[in-house]
Amino acid sequence: MQIARCIEAEVVRRGWPVGASLGSEGALQKRYGASRSVLREAVRLVEHHQVARMRRGPNGGLLVCAPDAGPATRAVVIYLEYRGTTLDDLLDARLVLEPLAAALAAEQIDEAGIERLRAVLGAEQQQPGLPAARDEFHVALARQSKNPVLQLFIEVSMRLTRRYALSSRTDSATEALEALDRLHHDHSGIAAAVTAGDSARAKALSERHVQAVTAWLQRHQRGDRSGAPPRQVRRLDLEAPRGKLAEVLAATIADDIAATGWQVDSVFGTEAALLERYRVSRAVLREAVRLLEYHTIAHMRRGPGGGLVVTRPQAQACIDTIALYLQYRKPSREDLRCVGDAIEIANVAKVVQLRNEPEVAAMLDTLDPSTDFAADEAAGEMRKAAVEEFRFHIGLAQLAGNALLELFLRIIAELFRRHWSSTGAQPPTAADVVAVEHAHLRILQAIRAGDDSLARYRIRRHLDAAASWWL
Ligand SMILES: [Zn+2]
Ligand SMILES: [Zn+2]
Repeated sequence: MQIARCIEAEVVRRGWPVGASLGSEGALQKRYGASRSVLREAVRLVEHHQVARMRRGPNGGLLVCAPDAGPATRAVVIYLEYRGTTLDDLLDARLVLEPLAAALAAEQIDEAGIERLRAVLGAEQQQPGLPAARDEFHVALARQSKNPVLQLFIEVSMRLTRRYALSSRTDSATEALEALDRLHHDHSGIAAAVTAGDSARAKALSERHVQAVTAWLQRHQRGDRSGAPPRQVRRLDLEAPRGKLAEVLAATIADDIAATGWQVDSVFGTEAALLERYRVSRAVLREAVRLLEYHTIAHMRRGPGGGLVVTRPQAQACIDTIALYLQYRKPSREDLRCVGDAIEIANVAKVVQLRNEPEVAAMLDTLDPSTDFAADEAAGEMRKAAVEEFRFHIGLAQLAGNALLELFLRIIAELFRRHWSSTGAQPPTAADVVAVEHAHLRILQAIRAGDDSLARYRIRRHLDAAASWWL
């Protein structure tokens, strides 16, 4: 795993040169001082992330490749499924992301983009029954925002929405057709506003459309208390990754673990039982288990009472996977900032609403700046200041209580961190640190006072000012 990380870091450092060779198997073995079997395992992980692929033969070597969003999206969906996202979380997240994408698309659209959107609208009319055809519009629109971060987050949201859509029921075929007709009408309106370059209208229509779709899903949700899609539907939705059998198997097992309610520490099955159940070779199963271990979904326990044990998925595993993919897409600082800001403003607004709930009130107190940084200008304090900054902003995200938005913000923070540590930007000065502490205090005051507009104003000002060093 460590060697895989080193190889991936090198690809990022070299600017992701698709097609370039990182060296032959022998050369890599020597460079990392690894045995052939360890190196091969590392290569499998690198291949799993679609960062590079080993070409065999005389002119062989580890070649850098162009990843698609598949592994990253899947990792997030699996994690969020474990965390348990509600339809309300999904609505809130989409309401933050999609109007922003629509507004940006209206500014960024070009002839090719217009053609693409119109083609998607045309396909919608021809295949009215396919829910996937409906998603396509949202994904296509997000692409026109030219913001890779926004695009990926919207793809994840659509993937989660589709799970709910598949599990919803309609009262009659007529009603279903009417609903689809409304969707198409909405999409056409948004596409027209985007094409005309009317950002404000595109934004407003997108907001209204997301609200309408979610209200519809809420009305037609099956009477399942958890709100989670039923098991058979999960299977249908499982988009098997292309390529290797082990990857397909790992995705299937992850899905089955989710379907059984994600019972942490329980044995999902013995090796023999899994071989029987999935009808694969032992080699394929073991490779799949390695992927599950890498994504902290399950691990194999040897010995009596052993088997594939379900683990608690760590957010960091999927954050790393996504951050790596986004490094390939090379989002600009501005791309990261505009999505991060939108999420943070939404979080603050949410915390204002929740401020009087006892748990939230108690946790708000823990976010108060704890140290007087003006007193100590040591470099160690600067590190602490960065930690404090992370704690404050991620803390607000946790209080807002939306698993999707919290994860998205953490991904953005991780990308800033990687960018910051690679460019060696100026560290904050003591005066910066004091200003940040003061801003946090003022934000908390506005939140406690229940002053929504002032809280939004202060977080916006703070994000603008703090952008030079943190996040
Ligand atoms: Zn739609
Ligand atoms: Zn801050």
